[in-house]
Amino acid sequence: MTANGGALLEITDLGVSFTTDEGMVRAVDGVSLAVHPGRTLGIVGESGSGKSVATKAVIRLLPANARIDGGSRILLRRAEGEIDIARLPAGGRELRRLRGGDIGMIFQEPMASFSPVYTIGNQMIEAILAHRDHLDRRLGRRFDRRAARDHAIRMLERVGMSNARLRIDQYPHELSGGMRQRAMIALALSTHPSLLIADEPTTALDVTIQAQILDLMLELQRELGMAMLFITHDMGVIARIAEEVAVMYLGRIVERGPTREVIRDPAHPYTRGLLAALPRVETSRRRLTPVPGDIPSPLQRPAGCPFHTRCPRRMPGLCDREVPADTALDARRSVACHLFGGRAS
Ligand code: SF4
Repeated sequence: MTANGGALLEITDLGVSFTTDEGMVRAVDGVSLAVHPGRTLGIVGESGSGKSVATKAVIRLLPANARIDGGSRILLRRAEGEIDIARLPAGGRELRRLRGGDIGMIFQEPMASFSPVYTIGNQMIEAILAHRDHLDRRLGRRFDRRAARDHAIRMLERVGMSNARLRIDQYPHELSGGMRQRAMIALALSTHPSLLIADEPTTALDVTIQAQILDLMLELQRELGMAMLFITHDMGVIARIAEEVAVMYLGRIVERGPTREVIRDPAHPYTRGLLAALPRVETSRRRLTPVPGDIPSPLQRPAGCPFHTRCPRRMPGLCDREVPADTALDARRSVACHLFGGRAS
């Protein structure tokens, strides 16, 4: 089920496999989703669920041993027209224009975005100048080096960097972790992307800074009108930032829908497990009931429902044999579980 009316990004039947020494690993299997202008879609799942691989495929930042299925479509709708990112030649000009231009990226580790040998300002200015055609279209302004520096300072101020005029000439290692994260957001947003991909951007930060960064991202999203694809293992973060959520397990989406509804009334036993694992105020943020067991290796994908090895509600003879189909619960919600597909007796 893909809610695709007016979507900025529409992913259809995305499959990604890796060739490894131990064999072929199917990391993403038939994922379809849509991100709408000005809105946030959260993808949640444990490490190994395929969420990061799926989003790296959107910007084609996959390692050399990865292959995107021939039938996958990753459509980005821009003012200049629609583009299928899955079909773009690897390393080509169009992909370079997209990354950091139409699509901004932020990661858990800011050093993945910054080079340690150049100042923050140098890297921001180069990014602004490299995407000046895109900025011209978005803002109706053409930047020279001096204007790019002023724009970079404004962005650093905008993300709450004190003394931005001094900090712009500092190296990434001279900033604290929280400040580096802010600088990375400023870098990603300085080119005014229409889509921001954020992969666990607050996971390494303490809870207070994490809350500040999430609030800042929401504020900037409203201001710039961009869409966000937000990847996290934390349902609490999803609750705070995303209007819609897709829950991934072992390469597939097992539940999706408006975040409020999914949190209020989770359907899939895995979603229930993730929510039960959320820390509560009365238990001093201690995790309560983690989903028991570990996510299986994609090299040994279980037959039937991929979650059946950990599911408290598995039905022997059904769940371990048949893959549950995606079942619509209403116009905006769906779940892949035999409890909802009319196969349970
Ligand atoms: Fe659990 Fe069966 Fe549903 Fe899978 S299909 S989540 S094993 S009840």
